[in-house]
Order: sequence, then structure tokens, then C-alpha cells
Amino acid sequence: MGPGPGTNRCTLALSDVGMRLDSSGRSRQSPPDTPLHPLVKKLLELQSVDQEIASLTKDIDSLPAEEARRRRRLDELQRGATDSHNRFLKAELETRALEKAIRGSDDEIKRQNERLGQVRNNAEYQATLFQIEAVRKDRDVMQEECLKLLEQLETLRPEVAAGETAVAAEQKVLDEFLAEAEQLRSSRAGAIAEVRGRRKLMSEGIPEDLLHDYDGLFKTRDLIAVCPVDNGYCQGCYNKITMNDTARLLGKSSVVKCGSCQRILYMGK
Ligand SMILES: [Zn+2]
Repeated sequence: MGPGPGTNRCTLALSDVGMRLDSSGRSRQSPPDTPLHPLVKKLLELQSVDQEIASLTKDIDSLPAEEARRRRRLDELQRGATDSHNRFLKAELETRALEKAIRGSDDEIKRQNERLGQVRNNAEYQATLFQIEAVRKDRDVMQEECLKLLEQLETLRPEVAAGETAVAAEQKVLDEFLAEAEQLRSSRAGAIAEVRGRRKLMSEGIPEDLLHDYDGLFKTRDLIAVCPVDNGYCQGCYNKITMNDTARLLGKSSVVKCGSCQRILYMGK
């Protein structure tokens, strides 16, 4: 385990260079009373604006992913509802076709029965009876199938309705989300533009390569690119800084970076 921020307070190194301990309980990110290297001071101010921008845009930045997630959910429900609906339509079509065929069989039976009265001999009579029986058998099979399909339709009907209800509810949730997202974006637009404008002015006068370093650190180091050294420890990574870096910090003639996390340092307490 490495040394934490709370260990080795008042180290020899710091008392050697005459560090003044600050007991005012200020927030870690507040600039100290002692003057800073002017560029570090500018970067520290820039950082507080960048943190402001980050907090203004954080939830807005997450909106596209959230929207995509909700759309996927809606698509999934829609596919399920369409599937139920198609199965219902298919069963309904099959039912109609069977009903038509049954009516056809009934007509055929009726015709054959009428023929029975007109036959001239027993053989013809028997043949007609046989034919009637065959049609009736087919009709019974179709009737059975048709009843099964009707039962299936009764089961599918609530499933179709439930699917449609779920899609409508999810669509409503999505619409509300989109409206809220739009409202959030437009309500923040002014504030974001204002802070970005401020940032642009503040970044003027900072050398390009230093600004570039700072931007990279801000993104990769949890929105803290500039941090204090408290009691000899970098408050970004809690590693001890070297005597040499401490001396350079106190000299305020150059921009000093933490040897471990590369953050830009200033003397805290
Ligand atoms: Zn560090």
C-alpha cells in the first residue's frame, strides 16, 4: 500500500522548505493565498469553468445513449406485437377459408341429397349415399380444425391487445423522454453557450502546448488537471512529490507536473 493523503503529515521535507500549514479548511480546489505561477493560476481558473461545463453537459451527453436504449426496447415490443398480430391474421384467414370450404361441403351434401330422389336404380342410390358420406367425413375434419382455430383466435386476441397496449405505453414513455430531453437541451443551451464563451476568453494567453496538455489531462484525469500539493503529496494521485519539485513549486518560475500522474501542480498547504 502506498502512502495516503492522511499519512506522514508535516513531513520533514516540507518543514525544511518552510511550508505554512493552512488550517482554514478550504476546499481542495480553491487557489491558495500564496501567489501561483501565473499560467497555473489561469489553468486553475480554466479548470473550474471546464468543471462547470462538464456538470452542465454531463446529463445531456448521456441522452443519445439513453434514447437508443429506449428505442431498442420499443422496437423489441413492436416486433413482438407484430408477430402476435400476424399469427392472429393467419389464423383468421385459415378460419375463413375453412368456413368457406365447410359451406361448400354443405352445398354439396344438399345437392347429393336432392340427387337421391332422382336416382333410377339401387346401385346409383348406394353410390350417392357413399359420396354424401365421404363429403360429410371431410366436412367433419374441417369443422374440427375450424373449432381449433377459433380457440386459437380467442387465445391470441388478448395477446394481440396486450402487445398493442405495451407498444403504446412504451411509445408514450419514449415521446415523453424525447420532449424532456429537448427541453433540457434548450434550457441548458444558453448557460452552456455563456460558459463556453467565458472559457474562450479565459484560455487566451495560455501557450498552445500547455493548453493542449491541460485539455488532455482534464479528459483523462477525472476532470482534474490542476491540483494542489498538500503536505508534500499530490492531491490528484496521492503520491509524494520530490524535493526538487517542491523547490520548483515554491520558486514559481516554471510549471511543475506530478511525476506520477502528470497533473499540473500548485502548492496547497
Ligand atoms: Zn499526481
